[in-house]
Amino acid sequence: MIFEQLSSLEHEQVVFCHDKETGLKAIIAIHNTVLGPALGGTRIWKYNNEEAALNDVLRLSRGMTYKSAISGIHLGGGKAVIIDSEGLQKGEAFWRRYGRFVNSLNGKYYTAEDVGTSTRIMEYIAQETKFVAGKPDYLGGSGDPSPVTAYGVYLGMKAAVKYKYGSDKLTGKTVAVQGAGHVGQYLIDHLVKEGAKVTICDINEQNISLVTDKHSSVKVVAPNDIYDLDAQIYAPCALGATLNDDSIARMKFEVVAGAANNQLADEVKHGQILRERGVVYAPDFLINAGGVCNVYTEVSPSGYHKGLAMSLTEQIYDRTLEILHLADAENIGVQQAAMKLAQARIDSIAKMKARM
Ligand code: NAD
Repeated sequence: MIFEQLSSLEHEQVVFCHDKETGLKAIIAIHNTVLGPALGGTRIWKYNNEEAALNDVLRLSRGMTYKSAISGIHLGGGKAVIIDSEGLQKGEAFWRRYGRFVNSLNGKYYTAEDVGTSTRIMEYIAQETKFVAGKPDYLGGSGDPSPVTAYGVYLGMKAAVKYKYGSDKLTGKTVAVQGAGHVGQYLIDHLVKEGAKVTICDINEQNISLVTDKHSSVKVVAPNDIYDLDAQIYAPCALGATLNDDSIARMKFEVVAGAANNQLADEVKHGQILRERGVVYAPDFLINAGGVCNVYTEVSPSGYHKGLAMSLTEQIYDRTLEILHLADAENIGVQQAAMKLAQARIDSIAKMKARM
């Protein structure tokens, strides 16, 4: 069963890590290392069961392969999940034990932040391994990747808007932002600054207040009402799989561009339905790559370079337009078009390596 999944998604290696003393249960998935070491964040989450944790890490690590490949950076795809539970003590020893597991892979996998982890946690991990990125500034790290991710999402959204409406101006456009967390808040800053009319939802009241205290023009709806909004643009910045049979049937959005990973519940089917409905979808792994571009410069031999991270992120605008046009020319979904380009890069390097 597990090997069937690995074979269909084409993973290279999956490592199960267990430590009785700290209660650590982690899964590290290395999807593809053709372009470089596998890099992807560590997510800690209360999964319903172990199968859900495995599915999550397999999907997310595969997404990282395509994200790095399409972004032109020299990294492969990997990801790790840690199974959280009620009462689990997640202190320094817990994270350093996890760091030792990362270290045991000898650089085949680099970790970084994801949902539930932070630069402080990366600092603990860094005590046990050098194969960690997203460390705090004072350790020579790149810090929180969210502002750079949000900037890339903003540029990807502008490109999708240009494709749909002929101009990339967001002034007066109505945008529904689902999730006002780390990335969502920075994205909202860009949108409000450009004069977009923003409505948000979140399950966390504190995050909603952080936004509405700063921007009095921002409106709020209940989480479940976001799909019924009369808005032009939908920016999913919370969870994956929010583009599904139910949500698509309800939505009137004309453009989808957000930060969440794996937005399409079914990559082919839901991409196709959006296309048939004339909705311009900016592929998630393409436009949310600012964060990985940021940490990429941190793990490169010359060390963190903000200028390089920003210029890699700025390429998201042109690449989004290029892929939207390619999808049209080839009459395929944008997700397929983006994956096709990413796969072509991986295949060409794999072929080159095989000749050596
Ligand atoms: P976060 O945890 O800081 O923010 C997520 C927000 O979504 C939280 O405020 C949470 O309360 C809210 N939320 C959760 N469930 C919700 C629901 N049902 N309805 C509405 N809101 C809900 O995470 P983040 O770092 O901002 O990342 C957001 C998304 O972008 C995630 O899917 C993440 O994997 C993806 N992503 C993040 C980065 C990054 O640099 N942080 C990079 C690439 C992709």
